[in-house]
Amino acid sequence: MSTTLSPDHVIAELKTRWGDGVITDPTELEYFGTDVYSQGKPLLAVLRPTSAEQIAAAVAELTAAGVTLIARGGGMSYTGGYLATRQPTVLIDTGGLDKVVEINVQDAYVVVEAGVTWEALQKALQAKGVRTPYFGPMSGSHATVGGALSQGSVFHGSARYGSSADSVLGLEVVTANGEILRTGSAASGNATPFFRWHGPDLTGVFLGDCGLLGIKVRASLRLLPRHSHIDYLSWQFERADQLMDAMGALARAGLASEIAAFDPSLSQIRMRRASLSSDVKSLGNVIKKGGLMQGLKLVTKGRDFLDPDLFTLHITLEGDSEGEISARVAAARKAVAAFGKEVENSVPKVMAANPFAAKNAMLGSAGERWAPIHGIVPHSRSTDLFNALQELFAAEKAVMDEHGLFIGTLMTTVGAQATLIEPCIYWPDSHNAFHVRTVDPEHRAKIGCPGENLPARAATDALKRKIADTMRAHGAASFQIGKFYTYREGRDPAALAMLDAIKQQLDPKGLMNPGVLGR
Ligand SMILES: Cc1cc2nc3c(=O)[nH]c(=O)nc-3n(C[C@H](O)[C@H](O)[C@H](O)COP(=O)(O)OP(=O)(O)OC[C@H]3O[C@@H](n4cnc5c(N)ncnc54)[C@H](O)[C@@H]3O)c2cc1C
Repeated sequence: MSTTLSPDHVIAELKTRWGDGVITDPTELEYFGTDVYSQGKPLLAVLRPTSAEQIAAAVAELTAAGVTLIARGGGMSYTGGYLATRQPTVLIDTGGLDKVVEINVQDAYVVVEAGVTWEALQKALQAKGVRTPYFGPMSGSHATVGGALSQGSVFHGSARYGSSADSVLGLEVVTANGEILRTGSAASGNATPFFRWHGPDLTGVFLGDCGLLGIKVRASLRLLPRHSHIDYLSWQFERADQLMDAMGALARAGLASEIAAFDPSLSQIRMRRASLSSDVKSLGNVIKKGGLMQGLKLVTKGRDFLDPDLFTLHITLEGDSEGEISARVAAARKAVAAFGKEVENSVPKVMAANPFAAKNAMLGSAGERWAPIHGIVPHSRSTDLFNALQELFAAEKAVMDEHGLFIGTLMTTVGAQATLIEPCIYWPDSHNAFHVRTVDPEHRAKIGCPGENLPARAATDALKRKIADTMRAHGAASFQIGKFYTYREGRDPAALAMLDAIKQQLDPKGLMNPGVLGR
C-alpha cells in the first residue's frame, strides 16, 4: 500500500539530502515571496537545486504530496508571476542552474541552463566572438534566461532581432510528474539542439507560459557573430505622432538594434536621477567601450542639450564594416528627418555601455515605488493608444494628485511589426523586501524611503488596471502576463481548449504555478 507523505515531511526529507539547498528561514521566505510590485501568500519553503535531475526528483515528490510549485529566476518581474496564490507552495529558485553548457560556434547555438543571467551569458559568449540575437532585458544583471523565455522579454537586440522567443531553438522542461521533456531537434533520436523546426512548434507552447506548463531547466539559443561596428543616434520631437512615425519607419527598415524613446515626463524623471557626469560607473564603461574621447564628450555635454518638454528617441546601430554602419546611419537619418531634430547621442551611448545596469531604476529619484504597465501594438495603432492613455491620465488627474502619483512613458519597438508603449507609475510608498535586497544600499540611502502609503498603493492598483484595460481595448498584446494581464477574456475558445488540454496532460492536478495566464 502506498502512503502519501505530508508536504512538511517531504520538505524535511529534502533537507536531509540537500542541506542548505532547502530554505525555510522566514526572512528568506519573505524575500523570495515578494516581487518588484507586491507580495504573495507565505511560502512553505524555497528549494535551490543545482541540476535538472535534482529539480525533476523534487518536483515528483512534491506534486505527489499535493504541493503547488513555482519557478523563480532573477525575481525581476512585477506581475505576480512567481507569487503564491495558495498554500502550501514551494518556490524553486533556479539560481543554482548557472552553467553555460555548450557554446557551439560551428553550428551557431548555445545550450544554457535556465538560471544563467543574461549578463553572465553575454560575458561567456563575448569571449568566443558570438552573441544571441536578442541578448537580454535591461534587468539582465539579475534576470535569467529561464525568466525571460517564460514570460517573454525585449530590449537588447529586439528592434532588429525580435523578442526573447525569437532566439530560441529548443527547451528542456521539467513537468509536474518529474519528467524532463525536450523540444526542438534535440527531441528526436540522435540529433543535437541545433534547430527548432521538425513538425509542430512544441517549443513555442512553453515560451510565454509563465511557468504554467513546467519548469524550464535548459534552453538552446541561436548564435550570431558579434557585429564589429556600432554607432548611436538621438532625436527630439514635438509631438507623439512624429515620434511614433519615426519609430515605425526605423523598425520596418530593420535599421537599429535597440530603440528607446521617452515622453517628456519620463525624460524629466530620468534627469532627476543622478546626473550623467557624476555617475562614475556609467562614465567608466563609456570610456571602456568607446575610448577616452567619448567619455570626455559625455562629461562636457552631459544630457543638458535635451529639452525636457520634448519626446526623445535614442537608437543603437550595428554593422559588420565601416561601409555598412555608415549606410545604416545615413538611412536612419533619412528615415527620421521629416519627423524630428537630431541631437547629441550621449543617452544611447550610456545605455549601450551599461546594458544591464537598470536595477536601481526600480525606485524613483525620491525613493518612490515604480510600476510599469505595457502594451504592444502594430505601428498603425501606436499614436491612438498613446493618445488614449493621455486622455485616461487627464481623467485620473485629481486622484493622481491626491495621492502623489506621477507617470512617465517609455517606448520601444519589437522586430519590424510592433511598437511597445510602457507608462510607468511612480507613487510614494515604503520599499518591500525585494527592493531592500536588490537595490544598491548606497543608492537607497541617497534617494530615501517614503513611509507606507496604502491609499496611494490602492490608487496605483486601480490605475494599473485602467491602463491595462485601455491597452486591451486597442488590441494590445503583452509580455509578462503573469497574474496581472488578462489572457482568457475574449480569446478564441478553440485555442483556449487546446491550451487547457495541454495543461491537463502535463499537470492534471493543476499544481504548476496556478493563477498565471488567468488559470
Ligand atoms: C529595473 C528593471 C528593468 C527591466 N527591464 C526590462 C527590459 O528591458 N525588458 C523586459 O522585457 N523586461 C524588463 N524588466 C522585467 C523583467 O526583469 C524581465 O522581464 C525579465 O526577463 C524577468 O526575468 P527573471 O529571471 O527575473 O524572471 P522572474 O521574475 O524570476 O520570473 C518571471 C516569470 O517566469 C517564471 N519563471 C522564471 N524562471 C522560470 C523557469 N526556469 N521555468 C519556468 N518558469 C519560470 C516565473 O514563475 C514568473 O512567472 C525589467 C525589470 C526591472 C525591475
